[in-house]
Amino acid sequence: MLASKYEDKTPPSARRGAATSAQSELSYTPRESCGLFGIFGDDKAVQKTYFGLHNLQHRGQESAGIASTDGRSIQCYRGMGTVRRVFRVGSNILDKLSNPIAIGHVRYSTSGASRAINSQPLLAEFSSGQVAVAHNGNLINAELLRQEYQDYGSIFNSTSDTEVIVHLLAKPTHLTKPDPLAHVLNHLQGAYCLLFLFADRIEAARDPYGIRPLCIGQTEQGGFVVASESCAFDAIGAKFVREVEPGEIVTLDKKGLSSRFFVNPGSIVPAHCIFEHIYFAKQNSFIFGENVHLFRKKLGRQLAIEYPADADVVIPVPDSGTSAAVGYAEQSKIPFDMGMVRSHYIGRTFISPDQKSRELEVKLKLAIVEEVVRDKRIVVVDDSIVRGTTTRGKIRTLRQAGAKEIHMRISCPPIRFPCYYGVDFPTKEELLANNRNLKQIEKFLGVDSVGYISLKGLLSCANLPADHYCTACWTGKYRIPVDVAVNKFTMERYQMRMFEELDA
Ligand code: SF4
Repeated sequence: MLASKYEDKTPPSARRGAATSAQSELSYTPRESCGLFGIFGDDKAVQKTYFGLHNLQHRGQESAGIASTDGRSIQCYRGMGTVRRVFRVGSNILDKLSNPIAIGHVRYSTSGASRAINSQPLLAEFSSGQVAVAHNGNLINAELLRQEYQDYGSIFNSTSDTEVIVHLLAKPTHLTKPDPLAHVLNHLQGAYCLLFLFADRIEAARDPYGIRPLCIGQTEQGGFVVASESCAFDAIGAKFVREVEPGEIVTLDKKGLSSRFFVNPGSIVPAHCIFEHIYFAKQNSFIFGENVHLFRKKLGRQLAIEYPADADVVIPVPDSGTSAAVGYAEQSKIPFDMGMVRSHYIGRTFISPDQKSRELEVKLKLAIVEEVVRDKRIVVVDDSIVRGTTTRGKIRTLRQAGAKEIHMRISCPPIRFPCYYGVDFPTKEELLANNRNLKQIEKFLGVDSVGYISLKGLLSCANLPADHYCTACWTGKYRIPVDVAVNKFTMERYQMRMFEELDA
């Protein structure tokens, strides 16, 4: 007999190892919160969700899960690790879940500790029946809402901000509203793309600012799918139809696709996370009205105009710096070459965080092609610098390989402020560009010159008007006001203390 909810049976010690593989200073790269996939009315819905999640794996590798329904009851399986690890080859998990309606989720936690209990979709039962919820983003008022419900006696099973949404859905006074889901969404503040799987339908919602991407596709059989990025459609042969609008709820049910808004459409100027374009999204995805690779190439060209260099070769930091490096090379007429090669098989490393081990970690992840860089003046193009320690490690290995001059070019402006909308930047104090000028950054990195694209230049490359993007990590101007006293770091520190006490 199939249980209505499975959990990964991996021993806690192993889970903890995977979950707490906090990135060492040297391997720090910003991490995204999550990826979503949903499909209605397809015989192979669960298998297609599995493949869709594979193509969204870059958005989170901490946990994965799929929930499905036969029209009457929902089943869910989730666990820690990549999609491939959770739905192990040779296991019959997907067969057991096989149903015509499914949603899936890959997660990296930005709110809520990295534990199996916080993996998604979250499955709950309330007076209206079952619901499974999958969330991408970060609710900035989750802690306040949680406190409110706990004060009235509600019990929470996880530390994820997503569970708050389930409590809002189940509240009796909300259930009597003409459109309970729309009513609930109006209580949420922050960034959210949400998939709700009810027994007979999927509801997909995007926050009124459209901070994270969410799009709709159509399968060859005419069924509808939703996903965080259009690259997920490629895996199953579906075609991109359109993006879910900010403040829109899209319903997939046996009547097809229907739409309604929970805020007045057009009443709020969007604040799309432009960092999705710079770093997170896959190059073949179409988000915020344009292709990611072509956008990054434009950034590279603009960067070459703003910060030219006298050099022999342009090399990218693979993979996310590659498209911008192509643009830089095209504009500057300096040859493009691959001076670094990324290992895609190394995964997470668990070596101790002393300096030597950190350098080894960088060498394992990024190999230098000596023949390309030796005795050359090189332009190194990367998408961003966060703490700078990762970049410094890369520069050191390039020097060791014989690079004569190194000119660092970055296709986003200096990051000076944390993100509260779902991207795991560290605290302000840990950011390289916080309180450092270009000369100091050059010295820290050990490069001959450094150049960041300007904010104006970045926005001039985008298809949409400049005020349609969030730029808070560069400007500190948060479009949705943030109470920094109740921020995600405070919450996570509290949660980690709580778990340490439980585990002791
Ligand atoms: S603060 Fe930066 S990373 Fe966060 S949503 Fe805004 S643009 Fe994106």
